[in-house]
Amino acid sequence: MQNTVVVAQATDEGVLGRLRAHANVTVVTDNDAKSLTRACRDAVCLQVGTWVKVTDEFLEQCPKLKVVSRTGVGVDNVDIEAASKRGVLVLNTPHANTLSVAEHTMALILALSKQLFVLDAHVRSGDFQIRRKYLPADLSGKTLGLIGFGNIGRTVAEKASAAFSMEILAYDPFVKLAEPYVRLMETVEDVVTNSDFVSIHLPLLPQTRGLFDAPMLSKMKQGAFLINTSRGGIVNEAALCAALDVFENEPPAPGSALLHTDRLILTPHVAALTRECVLRVAETAAEGIIDFLEGRQPKFIYNAKALGIEPPR
Ligand code: NAD
Repeated sequence: MQNTVVVAQATDEGVLGRLRAHANVTVVTDNDAKSLTRACRDAVCLQVGTWVKVTDEFLEQCPKLKVVSRTGVGVDNVDIEAASKRGVLVLNTPHANTLSVAEHTMALILALSKQLFVLDAHVRSGDFQIRRKYLPADLSGKTLGLIGFGNIGRTVAEKASAAFSMEILAYDPFVKLAEPYVRLMETVEDVVTNSDFVSIHLPLLPQTRGLFDAPMLSKMKQGAFLINTSRGGIVNEAALCAALDVFENEPPAPGSALLHTDRLILTPHVAALTRECVLRVAETAAEGIIDFLEGRQPKFIYNAKALGIEPPR
């Protein structure tokens, strides 16, 4: 009998076709946890986006599950400890969305510095004179501070430096070497107090949750902007002047103050949802499942260390 693979979101037909060559594939698109659990009872592999919470309880109800493959890099919606304890491989797609999130970050930096949304709203309401009252700013020579200098942080640095002549500061306790145009700083505060734009590229972990609280935000330079395309839980959402792609609660509640201030630019967790990127992450997540089903070691095992799996040579 063929293995069952569940794909928990609408995805590209070509990717589904490749999975179908190796397994029975069930696609669950109704964002309903109960129907997903039902579909996963006999499944060996599960491909998920961000909406599914893979908890210990969920895994308990899906005893045959051997692989959870995330179409993205952040695995904060998967209980890694519970998966590792049960011997479940957690896969992710570390490079497939780097470029798209970096481009979205640059789009938000540009929209903030050029005040695109404020100016657009004024022109539409008949206020053309806004052009003398609300002056956008140039990026050239401004300082961009990156918190987290992994794949996305590095790519943003490269684009901001090469295309916009920005000065780059970065903080990442696990990175000791950087390109010559980047100044690595000792602390988050060193970056935050010296930057005109602060952009967050951290995973959501117990150590990073709430890192940007009111005291940290108050250290930002007067008039500086914050961009968060990482995870909502890292920023305390009160009292911000920011561009946010991610929120503590997604979607934000209709009464949320965030929706009623023009000091914010809000996008609905779409940094990695470009046409190209959606395909890249789905292909990479499915490749991991196919590798597993064919008896090969998947390339990107997030919990390899916990499972005692050696990285491929
Ligand atoms: P990455 O793993 O390449 O980089 C993360 C960096 O954070 C690493 O260099 C790591 O050393 C650093 N880090 C870890 N803990 C830290 C700490 N306590 N303080 C400072 N730095 C720390 O990941 P990436 O591809 O650059 O992605 C970063 C995050 O962006 C992901 O974890 C994910 O949550 C988010 N993301 C969001 C979207 C979106 O659609 N908005 C898409 C992709 C990724």
